[in-house]
Amino acid sequence: MRKPFIAGNWKMNLTLDMAQELTDKIAAENIDFNRVGVALIPSYTNLYPVYKILKSTGTEIRLGSQNVHFEKNGAYTGEVSVEMLKSVGCTFALLGHSERRNILGETDELINKKLHSCIDQGLDAIVCVGETLNEREAHIHKEQTVSQVGKALKGIEKKFLNNIIIAYEPVWAIGTGKTAGKEDAEEIHSAVRDFIKSKYGEEAASEIKIIYGGSVKPENIKELINMENIDGALVGGASLKFESFSKIIQNC
Ligand code: PEP
Repeated sequence: MRKPFIAGNWKMNLTLDMAQELTDKIAAENIDFNRVGVALIPSYTNLYPVYKILKSTGTEIRLGSQNVHFEKNGAYTGEVSVEMLKSVGCTFALLGHSERRNILGETDELINKKLHSCIDQGLDAIVCVGETLNEREAHIHKEQTVSQVGKALKGIEKKFLNNIIIAYEPVWAIGTGKTAGKEDAEEIHSAVRDFIKSKYGEEAASEIKIIYGGSVKPENIKELINMENIDGALVGGASLKFESFSKIIQNC
């Protein structure tokens, strides 16, 4: 039985005051962590203040970063290392978000290097994959998404799969209000799980969490989470408001 996991990706939103106010409210929620895992993914500048609130309340909400650099340290202006993220309370990093792939040119190879760096240094990862609208219209969405998973996981040993979550995020559904239909999403989640089974075996495939992202709202989380291979959600826009994020957690 895979426990649902809901992560709020705040992207480049919320000043310090706003991030603290939202965290205060979410941390005060009475969440049953035996039933659902929850995580917040603020901007770099808000990580430590958010961590301090989470720590002071004793909540089990996890903290993650939106990105990380693959080198341990050195002359990489503007970048942040795994060690730095761990030192401010992060337990995972988001890798390969489509906004980074498409706006900043991140490649599958780069994402693979970042994943190795996280695993080698003890930071978990959520690896984002998903097709563009053109790829969906060309009916290559399944192949494209599975191929991204394969390239991201290149060289990763089976024993580390527990430290990795896959997020299927069709690019055309992110921030657009369009959600993949539950059957469309399930088709890809199932294909990704089949791929994990072929590469790592039945047990690994049945344990790995594959979450969905793309305009998830309180109204559509239930039907998504009820699908066999959808294990939670990566939430962008709706995670910026306490009411909608807490409803998504309640409804999943
Ligand atoms: C995301 O940022 O990963 C995302 C899915 O955004 P939204 O929920 O706004 O579509």
